[in-house]
Amino acid sequence: MFVILLGPPGAGKGTQAKLLAEHLGVPAISTGNLFRQEVASGSELGRRVRSYIDAGQLVSDETTLSILSDRLSKSDAADGAVLDGFPRTVGQATALDRLLAARSRRVDRVLDVAVPENVLLERLTGRWTCPSCHASYHEINATPRRPGICDRCGSGLVQRVDDRAEAIQIRLRNYRERTRPLVDYYGQAGVLTEIDGDLDPKTVTRAMLKATDSAATV
Ligand code: AMP
Repeated sequence: MFVILLGPPGAGKGTQAKLLAEHLGVPAISTGNLFRQEVASGSELGRRVRSYIDAGQLVSDETTLSILSDRLSKSDAADGAVLDGFPRTVGQATALDRLLAARSRRVDRVLDVAVPENVLLERLTGRWTCPSCHASYHEINATPRRPGICDRCGSGLVQRVDDRAEAIQIRLRNYRERTRPLVDYYGQAGVLTEIDGDLDPKTVTRAMLKATDSAATV
């Protein structure tokens, strides 16, 4: 099953994508994490995209599609994936449809995670992430057991450069202008479910599982 998590930055897509993917037995694929891995490795691609990511700007559709299609061609994604942060433009969505159609697959369900903007800002400004396993923490709501250390893998936590105030505003604007039209796109395709992302994480996961179960039985 191919599931897309749609929603603004700070909606909790990363955390939920991992949980949902475990339940569905497919990989969680985040284009943001793929890009950050390239930046950390110092690759040519990483050097090219770094300034866009740090500023909160979208990377070009062409580059994003290339990294995503490479990842989707790995054997663990043959039967499905939970996509987090992709697609972010209508161009990316139509390209994904073509990519999946070539494999006789399709987007099975799109979960639109809705969270009020004031909550997003609060979540993003206090966010700390693990550069190794990508677990996410918050300095008030979800503190790690040992300050600054990831509970899951023991790595030192970092604050993302694009979680600074100026970049957050750019990311939210890009979301409204470039990504929000996907709600109509997938609504018309009949695969969209809205999920209230302003509830406790377990309740959000349950709502997502319910929505994907119903897609599996269609
Ligand atoms: P994320 O971790 O999903 O917030 O992504 C971090 C950054 O990676 C974004 O602000 C963009 O610079 C870049 N990025 C991730 N996914 C995409 C995408 N689908 N299209 C364009 N840029 C992306």
